[in-house]
Amino acid sequence: MIEARDLRKIYRMGSVEVAALKGVSLAIDDGEFVGIMGPSGSGKSTLLHQLGLLDTPTSGSIVISGTDVSRLDDEGRTLFRLMHLGYVFQDYALVTDLDVLENVAISAIVRGRPVDECYAAAREVLERVGLGRRLHHLIGELSGGEQQRVSIARALVNTPAIVFADEPCANLDTENSQIVLDLFRRINRDLGQTIVMVSHEPWHMDYFDRIVFMKDGLLDTERMREEGLRAK
Ligand code: ADP
Ligand code: ADP
Repeated sequence: MIEARDLRKIYRMGSVEVAALKGVSLAIDDGEFVGIMGPSGSGKSTLLHQLGLLDTPTSGSIVISGTDVSRLDDEGRTLFRLMHLGYVFQDYALVTDLDVLENVAISAIVRGRPVDECYAAAREVLERVGLGRRLHHLIGELSGGEQQRVSIARALVNTPAIVFADEPCANLDTENSQIVLDLFRRINRDLGQTIVMVSHEPWHMDYFDRIVFMKDGLLDTERMREEGLRAK
């Protein structure tokens, strides 16, 4: 369970201030596959960064699985992220000098798990994303869709309770986007992981259990009411 209350985020650059979040409250249940949608600049990434503990809000609170993470210090946040959260980014953020298996295993190794166990877990999760035959390829030898699946495997290797994905399909064609969305859908169903994904592609809406619409730093409650009516 993720509970955010009255989240505000103001970016300060010298004397210029940008209010990216202006008081956002929301709750996401365990096992939900939630899409965060809305126009460019509406605050989707900023919201994801706060919920995923990649950044700290200017004010407001976030409780994840009973822990008030907004009260953690830097070290506590890092530890919480490592233990409970997984991330997928639009540009994959893979290590090009390592092969596929190493890219995934390293995420388990930094968590301090025994190395043999890390490689075993990495193999298993790469099998799950359909890359069991690509274990020893270098990242540069893979297509964009395959690279994104490596990054999904990396996000999953420590079986986090929550996976955050920031526009994971932004650099993929429709076919590969579908593969990635189907994969998230399947992971969510089979493993019960909570998935929170930012997207601005209207056709992605069909994949989500629920959609949080944003507009100008706030939840777009009007849009959500409209979409809710349409769904019924
Ligand atoms: P979205 O993901 O919906 O496109 P963002 O969360 O990226 O929206 O941005 C929301 C607003 O905050 C925009 O006006 C953007 O320019 C601004 N913004 C985002 N990140 C920063 C930053 N690091 N520094 C300053 N302004 C930022
Ligand atoms: P996304 O594509 O995920 O919405 P953006 O392209 O908005 O992300 O932002 C990419 C990076 O640039 C983020 O780290 C964000 O915080 C930063 N950023 C976004 N807008 C601004 C801005 N106006 N000024 C400074 N940094 C920004």
